[in-house]
Amino acid sequence: MTKPTCVYFIGSGPGDPELITLKGKRLLEEADVVVYAGSLVKEKTLKHCRRGIEIHNSASMTLDEIMKVIVNAAKRGEKVVRLHSGDPTIYSALKEQTGILEEESIPYKIVPGISSALASAAALKEELTMPEISQTVIFTRIEGKTPVPKSERLSELSKHQATMCIFLSIRLIEKVVAELKEGYPEDTPAAVVYKATWDDEKIIRGSLKDIVRKVKEAKIKRQAMIIVGKTLSSDITHHASRLYARNFEHGYRNKKG
Ligand code: SAH
Repeated sequence: MTKPTCVYFIGSGPGDPELITLKGKRLLEEADVVVYAGSLVKEKTLKHCRRGIEIHNSASMTLDEIMKVIVNAAKRGEKVVRLHSGDPTIYSALKEQTGILEEESIPYKIVPGISSALASAAALKEELTMPEISQTVIFTRIEGKTPVPKSERLSELSKHQATMCIFLSIRLIEKVVAELKEGYPEDTPAAVVYKATWDDEKIIRGSLKDIVRKVKEAKIKRQAMIIVGKTLSSDITHHASRLYARNFEHGYRNKKG
């Protein structure tokens, strides 16, 4: 019997095919079978694959169907790549897939990717952490069909007033903002990035006061990241990090002047 090959779960990044890692690209080039998350993985990313290989779009498949393709191919000794959007460890239903591979004694590895939260911050040209403003980033979502533990409700998390990246929630933007207002002041900056790094990327900036209206006007209903927090305001450059300050000493540099 052929020994099953190692299955690779790869983060394809936020969309731009150049934002996959070198390792992810190499594995795609070598793959015999690719199953990709078609709703958010850009088809252009598949141009890294060899011609004529077996490619499946998981958007229209059930977990059983996806795993049948992956397990059978690995058992045949073929190189299988499961391509997720962003990073595969964030909202990717990873464990339900790896759990089945473990039951089948099929080895697997995970190759990280650039999460859309980070690509959205880059699109906004913003820094998520700033001294004295916020040193914490929360990745979260609002409760929808998927339940969220009570202690992690947006209304609870907002009490920290940390920077927050909210996935999978744009459809419920009104509810999101209502909950956020329980902890953040109303003038807290808020931004929405639709399809970060795609050709039709859109950026909306505002505050908790007006972001709902702006999102509705732009008719954004999916594939968007909501980022909230004081680090997004433009008037805080005087809080610049001390890391590069002349009088700040650290392990790699002595104080200057
Ligand atoms: N694993 C992915 C997240 C998958 S969940 C990651 O690390 O990015 C899907 C959610 O991610 C979407 O509802 C949206 O909130 C966000 N998302 C994915 N790609 C995006 C993009 N290019 N721009 C903005 N948000 C994106």
